[in-house]
Amino acid sequence: MCLCLYGLAMNETSFPSMRVDGQVALVTGAGRGIGRGCALALANAGAEVIVMSRTAAELDEVVADIRNNGGVARAIVCDVSDSASVKAQISRINNLDILVNNAGVSKASSLVDLTEEDLDTLLQVNCRGAVLVAQAVAKIMKPQGSGVIINMSSTFGKNGRPNNSIYAATKHFIEGFTKSIAVELAPSGVRVVAVGPTAIDTPMTHDRLIDPAIGGDLLARIPMGRFGQVSDVVGAVVFLASPAAGLINGTTLMVDGGWTAQ
Ligand code: NAP
Repeated sequence: MCLCLYGLAMNETSFPSMRVDGQVALVTGAGRGIGRGCALALANAGAEVIVMSRTAAELDEVVADIRNNGGVARAIVCDVSDSASVKAQISRINNLDILVNNAGVSKASSLVDLTEEDLDTLLQVNCRGAVLVAQAVAKIMKPQGSGVIINMSSTFGKNGRPNNSIYAATKHFIEGFTKSIAVELAPSGVRVVAVGPTAIDTPMTHDRLIDPAIGGDLLARIPMGRFGQVSDVVGAVVFLASPAAGLINGTTLMVDGGWTAQ
């Protein structure tokens, strides 16, 4: 007997999968930190993974890790803010189901002390790079009529943050970009979402998190009372990439222990 209620039957094949078997995923900033974790988790969930960053040696380690665990992976060395390189490298990919648009940099500074070099780097990588990669990927996904783009936002994409104004502004950019292209690409069958982590212990943040003044202030803003680990973020990314998230579009899934709920 089929206990079918509004399209859902109580047997396991009726439930949408939270795996991504057979799908092809591109993860930028995959050499270390959150991107590396996303690449490993997507491979673990069944995807073939293409990892991208500027440092070949780190990418090679991630690829080896995935292959040693029975997965399929390859590396592309590319600076996401270099439009010629992004276009050339991504146009060689034939089919792509998942983009984790994660590459990013952080440069803390007060407004008064901000250097033009840091301003340019933040805008070039976090904004321009994210757009260039999404644009190149959309040119594959739109004709395919399917795909999901997962942008890496932050709690700093929701709230202001002293001494991090430009970094926070770049993440607010990601929020607006995510919503806008989600609406634009939805009729083509492409979903666009974002993930918003709180302070996660990675090579980007480690020194600041163990600094009593900076780390203590951040920790006090997380109601769950702990910093995140990369493992806290990857589940959200795999879920959003999977068929189980099929109607989730144009929104940010916060992984912030309640920071932005306050
Ligand atoms: P991370 O440990 O510093 O890793 C950043 C990755 O991005 C590296 O693989 C780096 O490799 C790559 N990358 C940087 N610039 C690049 C460029 N121009 N082209 C290509 N790849 C580039 O940083 P993370 O903490 O994992 O952060 C990853 C993302 O999550 C960023 O967008 C960050 O803003 C966001 N985020 C982080 C936190 C946190 O607390 N850690 C919280 C919220 C959001 P190469 O330098 O070798 O290129």
